[in-house]
Amino acid sequence: MAKYVFVTGGVVSGLGKGVLTASLGCLLRSRGVRVTLQKIDPYLNVDAGTMNPYEHGEVFVTKDGLETDLDIGHYERFLHEDLSRANYLTTGQVYWAVIQRERKGDYLGHTVQVIPHVTEEIKSRIKEALDVTGSAVVVVEVGGTVGDIEGLPYLEAIRQMRDELPREDVVVVHLAYVPVLSTTGELKTKPTQHSVKELRAVGIQPDFIVARCPLPLPWALRKKIALFCDVPVEHVIEDRDLPSIYQVPLALAQEGFDQKLLRRLDLGCAEQDLGAWQDFVRRLENCEQRVRIGIVGKYVELKDAYLSITEALRHAGAAVGTKVDIVWIPAQKVEEAKEKALAGLQGILVPGGFGERGIAGKVFAADYARRTGIPYLGICLGMQVAVIAFARSVLGWKEANSTEFDPRTPYPVIDLLPEQTGVQAKGGTMRLGEYPAKLRPGTHIHAAYGGAHIGERHRHRYEFNLQFLEEFERKGLVACALSPDERLVEAVEVRDHPWYVAVQFHPEFRSRPLRPHPLFVAFLRACVSCSS
Ligand code: GLN
Repeated sequence: MAKYVFVTGGVVSGLGKGVLTASLGCLLRSRGVRVTLQKIDPYLNVDAGTMNPYEHGEVFVTKDGLETDLDIGHYERFLHEDLSRANYLTTGQVYWAVIQRERKGDYLGHTVQVIPHVTEEIKSRIKEALDVTGSAVVVVEVGGTVGDIEGLPYLEAIRQMRDELPREDVVVVHLAYVPVLSTTGELKTKPTQHSVKELRAVGIQPDFIVARCPLPLPWALRKKIALFCDVPVEHVIEDRDLPSIYQVPLALAQEGFDQKLLRRLDLGCAEQDLGAWQDFVRRLENCEQRVRIGIVGKYVELKDAYLSITEALRHAGAAVGTKVDIVWIPAQKVEEAKEKALAGLQGILVPGGFGERGIAGKVFAADYARRTGIPYLGICLGMQVAVIAFARSVLGWKEANSTEFDPRTPYPVIDLLPEQTGVQAKGGTMRLGEYPAKLRPGTHIHAAYGGAHIGERHRHRYEFNLQFLEEFERKGLVACALSPDERLVEAVEVRDHPWYVAVQFHPEFRSRPLRPHPLFVAFLRACVSCSS
């Protein structure tokens, strides 16, 4: 069995197509359907690794090492499942494959064209997502908004699939916007009507219209959308603004969306089991304690740049029973205001990052947490600055640095491995994806995981320089996680500190609402207990 659900978007970007797609995955899964999710990014980039967080938010990393857009993170969190390369598709990948085939001469003298060669490649990759994951249904999110030039080959591929496959095997869900006019307080359906017109112009009639709206969608407006957009009125689904993205599946279930979708796909449906999810949402909303965590980063004005970290903190907060108040602290502010910028925090988190800007502030924050006994969680660059801070303050190596920031430092405590030296190309050349590590017994990290063997995802070029390990350990910064061959230090912690753990990997990518990540849980517990 192979069923395809396409999610397109209209009117404006940022309506939550990713969360809608993830929610559909969550709902279908809750009824026992074997479903997977796929994101199409219509960019010429081959992956998201070279994209600036200012433009696209966080770069997510799959277990098998693909750098993707942040929606894959939503998908993994809403499905409680690790996804792979097959779940993320870009125009760069599609054209790359087509051009390589052309160079090999596989097109046997034919002119290579968008239709049919590019569209065939797209269709085969969509089908591949089903085969690779062994799923019966794939929900495919088409990035961008209808009408974008970049999206046309994908919409054409969808149009063809609707023609080629039985009617009950292909469904199009269109997410549009129903804004409120500030002057009259009225909900307006015209933008939705126009975006459906755009979709029809490329030969696609949507089956469902999901209306993102700030207020409840009255029956009369549902009827109007149904009439003008030519869908049954019960296929107009309200998608109201909600305080938390985790409420979206519950709200859509109330609209009966999953049942209607399954009916349209001609699939039977089992009883729904959303009990654990409801319980999570309840816990998220009803935390009695609060804890203030400072995140010191370069892109703090753009929260999406650290999306998986904020979500991981929320998941852990719900498990620990505490609401997490995140204080966003620009690293450059710490450079200027020093400890004043860090006042009143119960925990400090320094996330990953690249480039020199803001490094001094992050080093200061890492050092401040060590000196004052505030719990510290360093992630990737957050581990590297913790090592630099320790070298400078405790070992007295004032010029200690990462060779990323000072290639001539006499103390290259963070450095490139021989296999990274000389790598010029930026795309896909870092240490990426999941690697195993073993934990040292008797450490905070070992206690947090409750075991000695872990697998975590990486995305970095630089590593702890093993040459200096002995001196660090003598003074109290211990390597608490190592690669199985002991060539790589995967985490360090300060021995005489309530909780100071810094990891070279990205634990945030594995946190799930119902399976919070043990490091985030242990970090929050330490923050709560240190301040009480
Ligand atoms: N810039 C550092 C490196 O490449 C850290 C990367 C990160 O934090 N993801 O190793």
